[in-house]
Amino acid sequence: MQTLKQRLSTLIEERGPITIADFMQIVLTDPNHGYYSKQDPLGAQGDFITAPEISQVFGELLGIWCAHYWHELGEPSNTMLVELGPGRGTLMKDLLRATKNVPNFHKSITVHMVESSPVLTQKQQQTLSGEKVKIQWHADFSTVPDGITLLVANEFFDALPIHQFVKTTQGWRERLVGYQKSQFTFTLAKHETPAAKLIPPKFADAPNNSFIEVSPACAAVMHQISERIMHFGGAALIIDYGYTFKEPADTLQAVKDHQYHSVLEDIGDADITAHVDFPLLAGTAMAAGAKVHPAVSQFQLLQALGIQFRAASLIKKATPEQQEDIIRAVERLMHPNEMGTLFKCIAITQPDAPAPLGFGPISDGQAAKA
Ligand code: SAH
Repeated sequence: MQTLKQRLSTLIEERGPITIADFMQIVLTDPNHGYYSKQDPLGAQGDFITAPEISQVFGELLGIWCAHYWHELGEPSNTMLVELGPGRGTLMKDLLRATKNVPNFHKSITVHMVESSPVLTQKQQQTLSGEKVKIQWHADFSTVPDGITLLVANEFFDALPIHQFVKTTQGWRERLVGYQKSQFTFTLAKHETPAAKLIPPKFADAPNNSFIEVSPACAAVMHQISERIMHFGGAALIIDYGYTFKEPADTLQAVKDHQYHSVLEDIGDADITAHVDFPLLAGTAMAAGAKVHPAVSQFQLLQALGIQFRAASLIKKATPEQQEDIIRAVERLMHPNEMGTLFKCIAITQPDAPAPLGFGPISDGQAAKA
């Protein structure tokens, strides 16, 4: 079988340089060699770590968020609880444990795990094997059945493909990946490419050599989420690292063994992501008629959900060594120099629906206490 490098180099030799979006799509999700398809990238042994892997508190608090909104919706009996890109299934496991005693909640939900990677699907199935709730897996969001939806997506959108453009004297030109002398290289398209239409016109005067990114893939998923919420009701919570004010920037990055890495080397063995364009997500949801509850930081959301009370109750039952771990984990999730401010959260609901926890006025650290 061809290696990923062979597959990509042959493709580029036949078709010419490819967009960063096509490059990311193949490198991350190629069914045989894609980064996510062939390995579990998470945790201390892997390449990067995410909030649910840092502390059980993260998934537990998201459980409170979901159960609270389910109650606000009138406790509907046939609710789709959807997670996009669930990694190892840790968030869902913690979410389900935290909501076990919410009367009728587990009876009323079917869990839908949307995961493209066979390796991670298997891992999630192991993690959730003891659960009594109905759980279904989907390789794509489009096959999740109709119905009132509660959706969570943590570090999902950052893995979706982006297009990059560089400002030249002829206008924005798309950045492409070529292949020369056995090496992948960046190059620029000679003419305008279709995705250039997605660059907001206000950036037309950006200085030469500036970068801008657009992600039709993020917009497409956001559109699907918004249509679903508009049609059936419910709420979506999106948490990711990204920006809430769009400016020209190059945010494409690769990470391997917890270190930054070249995007064009060790293809398929390093994670490639880009910062999430929250204004694009918000604009897409609003265009579908949905309400976007404006971005708050991860610090603000977890604070509002009562992280300090949950951590305090865990600390009470812990050994001194475990206590230190809990404190350190909460610090990683909350501190402005760690995940606290870089990670942003938005929520999507129908326009007249109540605000979810953490996004409305009555959310001052009370949730986990109550
Ligand atoms: N949410 C998890 C994992 C984040 S890593 C956590 O917080 O730990 C990104 C996840 O998205 C992985 O599970 C990856 O396999 C999945 N993924 C990436 N691209 C996808 C796509 N196009 N469709 C479905 N899942 C995808």
